[in-house]
Amino acid sequence: MASERRMSKPARTDAVIIGAGASGAAAAKVLCEAGVKVVALEKGPWRRKESFGGDELANINRYSLWPDPLLNPRTWRRDTSDEARVDLFCPVPQMVGGGTVHWQGWLPRFTPDDFRMRTVAGDLPGATLADWPITYDELEPYYLKVEWAFGVSGQAGANRFEGPRSGGYPCPPMPMSRYAQKFHQGCAALGWNAFPTPQAALSRPFNGRRATVVSAFAQQHGDPTGTRSSALNVFVPDAVATGNYDLRPDSYVRELVLDGQGNIRAAVYEDAQGETFEQEADIFILACGAVETARLLLLSRSGRFPNGLANGSDLVGRNATFHEYSAAVGTYDDPVYAWAGGGYVSASTFQHYGHDESRGFVSGSHVAVAGVGIPLPINWHLPGAPSWGAEAKKIDRDYFSHSLAVAMVLHDMPQHDNRVDLDDEVVDAWGLPVARVTLKPHRNDLDQGRYLIDRGADILQASGAKGITKVYADRVTGNCSHQHGTARMGKDPDASVLDRWCRAHEVANLYAVDGSPFPTGTGANPTLTIMANAWRVADRIIAERGRARTAPER
Ligand SMILES: Cc1cc2nc3c(=O)[nH]c(=O)nc-3n(C[C@H](O)[C@H](O)[C@H](O)COP(=O)(O)OP(=O)(O)OC[C@H]3O[C@@H](n4cnc5c(N)ncnc54)[C@H](O)[C@@H]3O)c2cc1C
Repeated sequence: MASERRMSKPARTDAVIIGAGASGAAAAKVLCEAGVKVVALEKGPWRRKESFGGDELANINRYSLWPDPLLNPRTWRRDTSDEARVDLFCPVPQMVGGGTVHWQGWLPRFTPDDFRMRTVAGDLPGATLADWPITYDELEPYYLKVEWAFGVSGQAGANRFEGPRSGGYPCPPMPMSRYAQKFHQGCAALGWNAFPTPQAALSRPFNGRRATVVSAFAQQHGDPTGTRSSALNVFVPDAVATGNYDLRPDSYVRELVLDGQGNIRAAVYEDAQGETFEQEADIFILACGAVETARLLLLSRSGRFPNGLANGSDLVGRNATFHEYSAAVGTYDDPVYAWAGGGYVSASTFQHYGHDESRGFVSGSHVAVAGVGIPLPINWHLPGAPSWGAEAKKIDRDYFSHSLAVAMVLHDMPQHDNRVDLDDEVVDAWGLPVARVTLKPHRNDLDQGRYLIDRGADILQASGAKGITKVYADRVTGNCSHQHGTARMGKDPDASVLDRWCRAHEVANLYAVDGSPFPTGTGANPTLTIMANAWRVADRIIAERGRARTAPER
């Protein structure tokens, strides 16, 4: 369905990367530093630090950073018998830097068992658990590269359940907050391991950068100081410094078109003025986030791929997983100031992360301490409390500085029918069908969630909380803004979309490097692994280009 509009054709390049968020910027840095010419097409603007600030209404309630659902809607339904409705499902900022512009920056590694959960847990009826085609050991050097490029602050060895490391963290942990202290106290009383959450922040000056300015306006706010570690502050400048990175913001890719051999010839995109371009390249790398990557593949139909690009297996968009963020909330007599640091100074446990047959469900998840909801005055709300009137004001006064949340990153199970496809009614502001998410929780998700919230409550109790409220999850809402699985990597082309190098089985010059290749979502925040995997794939692309150049001519 190539557009009939007149198109401009900029000069051909080596590689086109679609998306300049966490994965796209990581891949760009690596490719550009190796001399590969990259054109990056990013749908959103390139915002500078001067345009960010701590305006809670603008940032959280008025879509200054979130995608505006009037322009960029998504729809959600529970299953195919349900009517899909517009929903801000799994929102992530659409701009240079992507989700890292206003993230929380928790960067734990996955564990070795995460890469072989099907082997570890066996068959779970109704789920499509699969081992990854790569191992922890293969990814480990890339974890270290990202941690050192970002200047992650953490304590090597403190997480007793982590896999082997080939090196420590570049920066020591961030300072201990009052709420992290409570978490450590609770875990210690229970005999559970706890560790400082590894953070995308500098606890000291590092690599020519200043130490991170810690403020309450962190998660869900952009960084006016430019000192947090993000794709925007680290990988994009690294790539730009090479002179090989042609980053084009406000460039919305509508479709990928094929040549006569079945390879991708060009990305068709529209700029802010509505002008359409065809950008040709040797290779194309999708880094749109797992939802939008699936959507772009499904939008790119052709005679050869009538159901969407690289979708002969009908697996594009399927097996989508999103995590779920829910918590046990505790209140204390003494102040814990859980708003301080805006989520950037936390503590974690993997005590209930690994699979344990005796619990009666598969897998587990990362549990960590944070503020209650969005820990700032306008959006703060104690679960179960009235949200207006004199009683609400009293609760605000009494508990704003005296409450914290012990939260989980639920490991939801992949299922064949949990998927992203194209909505047949709703279009975005550019007239393109939007992503429709069909998602029903597996029984395992609900059981695991209950168990973890109860363990969170144990920590609260053991740390002296006076009041405890458990917020059990009853569905996967996309509130984590984590997305995975929509273009699984695997060995078998009938059971996966991408091979172990994240190259499409059916299209030789197409890669995806965001969360879409993940066969399982795991129970940990995904972005360190997303960036490490993008770096691994970029290294492979560089090696293959080198091999192609030195191959004898026939
Ligand atoms: C509030 C918040 C807190 C978070 N905290 C954490 C955390 O503590 N730890 C963690 O691990 N993760 C966290 N995340 C998740 C993290 O941000 C994502 O996992 C990460 O950004 C995913 O990287 P990505 O490259 O796949 O996609 P993104 O970073 O979302 O980048 C994708 C980019 O592609 C662009 N794009 C999409 N479609 C097109 C198109 N058709 N044409 C051109 N461009 C396109 C988008 O505009 C976007 O900029 C958080 C997210 C949010 C929103």
